[in-house]
Amino acid sequence: MLPPVGRFAPTPSGRMHLGNVFAALIAWLSVKSRGGSLVLRMEDLDTQRTSEEYARVLRRDLRWLGLDWDLETPAQSTRSAVYQQYFEQLADLGLLYPCYCTRSQLHSVNAPHLSDGTYVYPGTCRNLTPAQQAAFDRKPAWRVQVPDKLWTVEDKLQGTYKENLATDCGDFVVRRADGVYVYQLAVTVDDGEAGVTEVVRGMDLLSSAPRQMYLQERFGFPHPEYGHVPMLMAPDGRRLSKRDKDMDLGYLQDHTTAEKLLGLLAFSCGITDKCQPISACELAGEFSWEKLQKADICLDITPILG
Ligand code: GLU
Repeated sequence: MLPPVGRFAPTPSGRMHLGNVFAALIAWLSVKSRGGSLVLRMEDLDTQRTSEEYARVLRRDLRWLGLDWDLETPAQSTRSAVYQQYFEQLADLGLLYPCYCTRSQLHSVNAPHLSDGTYVYPGTCRNLTPAQQAAFDRKPAWRVQVPDKLWTVEDKLQGTYKENLATDCGDFVVRRADGVYVYQLAVTVDDGEAGVTEVVRGMDLLSSAPRQMYLQERFGFPHPEYGHVPMLMAPDGRRLSKRDKDMDLGYLQDHTTAEKLLGLLAFSCGITDKCQPISACELAGEFSWEKLQKADICLDITPILG
């Protein structure tokens, strides 16, 4: 068996918060505990919200945690020409069509809404004639047609997750009307080209895996393994997010140490049975997917603030 290749793909739109730290830690431990390597990639497709300054701070934060990487692949904002080649492959397969639906049309359709706030696209623009397309005087987004087929994700942690893209998602956008390629396409291309064999990230992205598996097949990339880690919740039951300023690494670096933080995370998710300071390297010796808890994790950080 070849050593695994994992990846950490943060969006540099602010300081890392504990949810990001946790996903990075598990991605790192999973490969490092088996002699594998980790690829770092900045997901900065949204150039309005992201910056090189945040990317620099992110790298510094990862080093502070002791989570090193073997290779950093080019940031997504620099890769539009590459994404275009894959977009053209889909076009050559006859799978793309322009979509002129406006945001308000999309939200008013009688399609069922999914739990993550998205909706099933009903295929409104799938069969427009060239004359109907020409009648719109705005630039279209481009959607890829999805087959009526059940996709099965065998997740390392969450077990079996199934989705039929035709009924659970619908044809999805791969390039926005402003020409920006979307996350689903970029992530598939980047993971595939980097030879990533396992994708470890937050549970909120589990429902993206079937779309990515579909694109992997179209592009001829093997499917990676998946491990979607639980979300971290504050003691009052809220999901931790970038809005919780006191949970970001800027604050935490002033109030605790990396070892205390890793020790708390490792204990809270089930990797260790005592809450005590520990380094990332030491944790690699303790890690196994079997120990990891799959339900959301309630985290109380007060005991490690000093
Ligand atoms: N860029 C995404 C984030 O920061 C992660 C995407 C992924 O891991 O596939 O939440």
